[in-house]
Amino acid sequence: MSEHVQRHIDADDEAALLETIDRWIERDVRPVVMHHDHNDIWPAELVEQMKEMGLFGATIGQEYGGLGLPATTYSKIVTRISSYWMAITGIVNSHLMMAAAVERFGTEAQKRKWLPKFASGEIRGGLGLTEPDAGTDLQAIRTHAVREGDDYVINGTKTWITNGIQGSCIALLVKTNPQAEPRYKGMSLFIAPKGEGFTVGKKFDKLGYKAIDTAELVFDNYRIPAENLIGEVEGEGFFQATGGLELGRINVASRGVGLAEGSLRLATEYAQLRKTMGKPIAQHQAIQLKLGEMVTRAEAARLLVNQAAQAYDRGERCDMEAGMAKYFASEAAVRNSEEAMRIFGGYSYSKEYEIERYYRDSLLMCIGEGTNEMQRMIIAKQWLKRNPA
Ligand SMILES: Cc1cc2nc3c(=O)[nH]c(=O)nc-3n(C[C@H](O)[C@H](O)[C@H](O)COP(=O)(O)OP(=O)(O)OC[C@H]3O[C@@H](n4cnc5c(N)ncnc54)[C@H](O)[C@@H]3O)c2cc1C
Repeated sequence: MSEHVQRHIDADDEAALLETIDRWIERDVRPVVMHHDHNDIWPAELVEQMKEMGLFGATIGQEYGGLGLPATTYSKIVTRISSYWMAITGIVNSHLMMAAAVERFGTEAQKRKWLPKFASGEIRGGLGLTEPDAGTDLQAIRTHAVREGDDYVINGTKTWITNGIQGSCIALLVKTNPQAEPRYKGMSLFIAPKGEGFTVGKKFDKLGYKAIDTAELVFDNYRIPAENLIGEVEGEGFFQATGGLELGRINVASRGVGLAEGSLRLATEYAQLRKTMGKPIAQHQAIQLKLGEMVTRAEAARLLVNQAAQAYDRGERCDMEAGMAKYFASEAAVRNSEEAMRIFGGYSYSKEYEIERYYRDSLLMCIGEGTNEMQRMIIAKQWLKRNPA
């Protein structure tokens, strides 16, 4: 069982960190976004810079070489970056989800062995949960591990794995007892570095979320030491893989806020420059109605995310709050980017303008960390539990 570690950062330190991020975005990220996005090029230089800034250890404890940031600060970093280029935050987020599984549920020896290398970015990776026939219904996975002496031998296929090509390690969810009932009791989570029997299948050609690699991973008699079983107990994998979902939802929600705010920023500027009927379109009531809704939506999303992150940092149970933040902020990203597309008129449809990327990228936010269909049901179940008749 994991213990929640409460994190804190001084206001001055947070401000200095956010300033560093802002300078980096302005100097290094903005000039290369369109080239990398349009050509689907993995941003090697930006990854090196993120390593130097310590972002691959952002939420890993300082005792393991990370920055040990509270969720509130990390959320602000993700929001800021996403308001210019959402996709690169996935390189860090998925990696930190893998690290969180080890930090929360691993043995002390596993933490000491893996976390410093995760924090420095020397080993980067992500979460390997989804399979061709198991996404929302995660308990239907078929990849399985069989114990042989001091090793496990793993066979199966994972799909849609972020950082699957550029990363060198994943937290891999498998069945160690495919007959177990209920099904989750037969699931285990492994720290799985690349090696013999662990190969990359196809790379996905996606609508958005370009430049970051999403791939199919194939395990063919992949042999792994038993000491890589997280917590060194079988049957805990489902809980370990989904136990970080509150933080995962806050992460996705923060990306949603960034996309919603970025779309608003682009639309606000364009609406004041573009003229029709002798005046800037921002002075037409139809455009003002859109801007009024967009600014309100972005602000409401930001407040919901901040509220969830604060509850998380206090160590409170916040699955409902994180769910509401994820649901609302991701829908805000989609609505704001679509409204911004309309404000840009025909130019929204040109790749010479950036707004089309926000629209493509925002749609993903409704899928990751639990689809928004599931999210509403999770919120409702929690709500009913907290309000018995
Ligand atoms: C770009 C990208 C990156 C990804 N990265 C990763 C990653 O790094 N690691 C990883 O493990 N996975 C990753 N995924 C996979 C992602 O988590 C799944 O796509 C997601 O969980 C949904 O699963 P699915 O696609 O199989 O949809 P399905 O589960 O088949 O769902 C299809 C539809 O049915 C709805 N639905 C399903 N079950 C129910 C139900 N019980 N009640 C009501 N509605 C239901 C869903 O909400 C959805 O609308 C990624 C996906 C994408 C697109």
